[in-house]
Amino acid sequence: MTRWLRPPRRVALLSVHTSPLEQPGTGDAGGMNVYIAQTATRMAERGIEVEVFTRATSSELPPVAELAPGVLVRHVHAGPYEPLDRSELPAQLCAFTAGVLQTEANNEPGFYDLVHSHYWLSGQVGWLARDRWGVPLVHTAHTLARVKNAALAEGDTPEPRTREIGEQQVVDQADSLVANTEMEANDLICQYDADPAKVSTVSPGVDLRQFTPGSQRDARAALGLPRDATIFAFVGRIQPLKAPDVLLHAAAELLAQCRVDRSKLVVLIVGGPSGTGLEQPRALQDLAVRLGIEDLVRFMPPLPGPALAKVYRAADAIAVPSHNESFGLVAIEAQACGTPVVATDVGGLRVAVNDGVSGLLVPGHSSVDWAHALARSAESREKLSVGARNHARAFSWDHTTDELIGAYMQAAVTFRKERSEVAS
Ligand code: UDP
Repeated sequence: MTRWLRPPRRVALLSVHTSPLEQPGTGDAGGMNVYIAQTATRMAERGIEVEVFTRATSSELPPVAELAPGVLVRHVHAGPYEPLDRSELPAQLCAFTAGVLQTEANNEPGFYDLVHSHYWLSGQVGWLARDRWGVPLVHTAHTLARVKNAALAEGDTPEPRTREIGEQQVVDQADSLVANTEMEANDLICQYDADPAKVSTVSPGVDLRQFTPGSQRDARAALGLPRDATIFAFVGRIQPLKAPDVLLHAAAELLAQCRVDRSKLVVLIVGGPSGTGLEQPRALQDLAVRLGIEDLVRFMPPLPGPALAKVYRAADAIAVPSHNESFGLVAIEAQACGTPVVATDVGGLRVAVNDGVSGLLVPGHSSVDWAHALARSAESREKLSVGARNHARAFSWDHTTDELIGAYMQAAVTFRKERSEVAS
């Protein structure tokens, strides 16, 4: 039984399919990795020990690694020592759960006070751990299959029924559900029949020490980019859902409309392949060739935070053309660097971008609309930049962490209450 009404002493974070030690921006590593690394580090700073469980994808990985003081990453042996497609992971959940339970069994009873699962695969593991350990289960979905399937990009593969069923089970079982936005909270309640009393909304944050405004000129010089060009950038995993192709089409449209001089336009694509459809590393390069803009497009591999901050600063605007986003960390990071964001008017991007103030929201993906919005954002960069910085300041990982700890404490109360009702 849970023994506390104070913050927990030690939390087990479950992240089956991707590790917070991986470089985000390619494959399965993205915003969730950043979320876990940032909040776990801050929880440890607040005196909560955190252990993150993730699948060992290589025999070279140590069983335990330190992410930050007070934060351990445990590599659980579940299936072959190689990356597996997400669709293959449900078959490894039994082995993964066994590894998690074994770790706890090797310690004193009541080692973990709470389990927090990220993404539905981890939720399945958390469900069992919660029952075995007698501690609350907090779950963050990050994305939801039903929402994703309703906004599929052309050529994208629908999320399988297995996931929808598994997700529903986790929603039904969790003692607390943490949503990134009010909209996601609403999706959980309306599309998954979640108990509203168990759902809390906690905004993701941004590292305001790393993503700071700075000189555009210096950033361009550091990246070897022309000082006087109009530069638009896409940052993130290259997959149909993120739709980086929309930026290429919009760039071609800008040239067709003669709104930018060909010698003065640069498009940056930062990130690596992920998922289906556009996963072929060359798919976007091929598109650039077909559009006749290959000489204007520069591809950069996934970059760590400090280099990414330079990309944000160097750009006139960052394009986030996703078909859906539960939030969109890239949008907030760019704005924290003082760069306006042009994003699709969907999902969490409506929270991440203050339309007309910190950037522009575009309904749909028409090249003409995107070209127009990009040109407008570049023209009004100075004004939007002020709005962008102000908007980003409202988000911080410290705030996210404090809210999460509040959700943990609330989950413990609910858990205790429900268990005592069952017992009486
Ligand atoms: N990212 C990175 N390097 C890259 C590209 C992306 O570190 O080259 C990080 C980026 O800083 C952001 C995260 O990956 O924190 C992507 O999060 P977002 O919410 O935008 O998208 P997701 O990957 O969760 O779909």
